[in-house]
Parts: sequence; structure tokens; C-alpha cells
Amino acid sequence: MTASSDLVRIESLLNEQLSPLVPAIDQEGLYPESLLRHLGHAGYFSVQNRPQPETETAFLRLIEETAKHCVSTAFLVWCHLTFIRYLLASQNDRLRRRLLPALEQGESLGGTGLSNAMKFLSEMEPLRLKAVRTRGGYRVFGTLPFVSNLGPDHWFGFMAETGDCLPIVAAVPCRVDGLTLEERRFFIALNGTATYCCHFRGVFVPEEWVLADPADPFIRKIRPGFVLSQSGMAIGLTYAAVRLMRRFSNKQGNVNSYLPFQPEHAERRITHLRARIYGLAAALDRPNEVSFQEILRVRLEAAELALETAQAALLHAGGSGFIRGSEVERRVREAFFIAVVTPAVKQLRKELTRSFA
Ligand SMILES: Cc1cc2nc3c(=O)[nH]c(=O)nc-3n(C[C@H](O)[C@H](O)[C@H](O)COP(=O)(O)OP(=O)(O)OC[C@H]3O[C@@H](n4cnc5c(N)ncnc54)[C@H](O)[C@@H]3O)c2cc1C
Repeated sequence: MTASSDLVRIESLLNEQLSPLVPAIDQEGLYPESLLRHLGHAGYFSVQNRPQPETETAFLRLIEETAKHCVSTAFLVWCHLTFIRYLLASQNDRLRRRLLPALEQGESLGGTGLSNAMKFLSEMEPLRLKAVRTRGGYRVFGTLPFVSNLGPDHWFGFMAETGDCLPIVAAVPCRVDGLTLEERRFFIALNGTATYCCHFRGVFVPEEWVLADPADPFIRKIRPGFVLSQSGMAIGLTYAAVRLMRRFSNKQGNVNSYLPFQPEHAERRITHLRARIYGLAAALDRPNEVSFQEILRVRLEAAELALETAQAALLHAGGSGFIRGSEVERRVREAFFIAVVTPAVKQLRKELTRSFA
């Protein structure tokens, strides 16, 4: 299948199956689980026997196209693909062989509880989970306040400190003794993301579920793709906000032409930025040629452009965008999520400052 026919296929799938659900996802917190499973059945999560550059760009594209409709669903796709990324990066062949086929097919779904780890690595907070060595594995204690894309047959990844030894990264199924999931539904957006506070009360994590021990080489491997692929949400949202601005361009005697931020400005910037992001994604299999600073920079620029464009869409829409339930106000709330999800804009700025210090 060519890239353009594949794009037509995903566009029509999302138009038919995601668009009608978006108001319920955003306003009622509907978790679009059946759509995620359908994407898997349709082959969109496939990684085996595909070269990495092809997978990276296809995944970015899937996140971008999904975000053109709904950032909640795009984030869920990102969570799932990120969990797949962990399995691909792990040296634990047994766990990969056990979980990957079902994840590719959407029969099982995955999440990632690594925000805390990413902030720990930026010296922003301590690790919230502790793993105590025991026979055959670890007992894990502590709380992760937000992990999305969770459900009864789902798995997710986390990082835990181990006392005297270096931290580890492991995966757990949501249905495991000692793990309590407390649903979170008080957000200003993204309530349809099946987000839970995860309490670990002595969860037994056998050796077979350990993805990396020690965590460090694994984190170095997954971090560029983890951060870069989030940009797909910002690209998709920016294009959607440009489309909204255009919808209002002939309004009230072209009064919007007096606003400083016009759709063509955003479009020019996002087209250029998108090319840089896709270029980096296609090169992720050659780590020596890809600068992590450049990844942080494009992720930051994309988040800030999404915020600017969503705000401009509201200014162009005026009162009709200020109504609860309008696409314009949803886009503003979604843009703030892209700016605060780890690595948040503040963390990206800190990291970029540190790397040039
Ligand atoms: C809708 C949504 C979905 C998310 N999904 C994921 C996910 O799938 N995986 C993931 O790892 N992270 C997830 N996060 C977390 C996100 O990536 C950020 O880490 C989070 O928003 C905190 O950002 P902050 O650094 O600005 O912390 P702040 O809000 O400034 O909080 C400071 C500290 O307090 C902790 N904290 C905040 N609120 C609570 C609380 N209610 N109970 C206990 N501790 C708390 C935070 O973890 C942080 O360490 C999600 C967040 C949101 C809003």
C-alpha cells in the first residue's frame, strides 16, 4: 500500500468512526476503546518486520491524523504506541514475545506511567515508586497520580527506585494483586482517556515483567521517540485550529483580517516544523545523527505553536467559539494539555537551558 492510499484509508476510518464520538469523548468522558482496538485490527499498530524509520513516521502520522479530530484519542494512541516502544527497546525477549502480538492487534492495550521518571531525570521530583527485592522479583510500593489508557486487560510501564541499586523499568497488568486504580475525571479536558491514579501496595513484579535493569540504557533508547512522537498531537491540533480560523475568515466584513495571527502564518510555520519533525522521526534508528536537543526544541515549538493557534482560533471565532461544546473551546483546552503533559513546556525549557549551560 502506498503512503497516500494509506492516508486516505486512515482519514476515512477516523471520519467514520471517530468523528461521531468526539463530543461524548470530550464532554462525557467516553473512553474510545473500541476505536483503539479497531485501529489494531486494521494493522495500524504493527511493528514486526517493518524498518524502524517506516514505523516511526507511520506512528507519528497516525497520532497527527487522530489529533486532527480529537487530542484525547490521539493521546491514547500515543500511550499505546509508547508501551509498544518499551517492549521493542527491552532486552526481555520473553515478555515481548508474550505481549507484542496482542498489542499490535489491539486485543490488549498499553499505557505508560513514565512522567514521574522523566521529571526525576530532569531533577524535578523524586521517584514515586519503590521496588524492594524479593525472591523471583520485586515488591513495588507507592503512587503514580495519573496513568492513562488503563483497563482490565491493559498493561503499563513504570520506573521504580530500588534502594542501593539503580532504578528499574517494568511492566504490570492492571489486574494484579496489590494494585488499586482510582479513576480521575476532574480534568478540564481529556476525561475520556481512562486515566487513573495507581496505588501500588506491595505489588509483586516477577523478573519476567522487568523491562530494564538498570533503567538507564533503556531510558536513553526510548526517550527521543517518546518525546518526538508527542509532537504528532501538536501538529494535528494546529492544522485543526487553522481550519477553524478559515471557517470564520469572511465574518463581519473581514474584521478578522485585523488580527495579527492569520491562518497562513500558522500554516507556514507548522508545515516547516512538521518537515523537521518527520525528518527526525525517520532518523531515529541512527541515534548518532539525531540530536536530542533538536527533539526537545521541535517538541517545544510544536506545543507553543498549538497553543498560539488554538488561542488565535478563539479570537477569530469570537462569541461562537466561547460556547461550551464548540470545537474552538475544546481545541483551546486540548492545546493546554499538550503544553502540560510531561515533558511540559516548563520542563522542555529547563532541559534546553541545561544542555547549553
Ligand atoms: C489528562 C492527563 C493524563 C495524563 N496521563 C499520564 C500518563 O498516561 N502517564 C503519566 O506518566 N503521566 C500522565 N499524566 C501526568 C502528566 O504527564 C504530568 O506529569 C502531570 O500533569 C503533572 O505535571 P506537573 O509536573 O505540572 O505537576 P504539578 O501539577 O505541578 O504537580 C506537582 C507534583 O504533584 C504530583 N501530583 C499532582 N497532582 C496529584 C494528585 N492529585 N495526587 C498525587 N500527586 C499529585 C505530580 O505528579 C507532581 O509530581 C497525565 C496528566 C493529565 C492531566
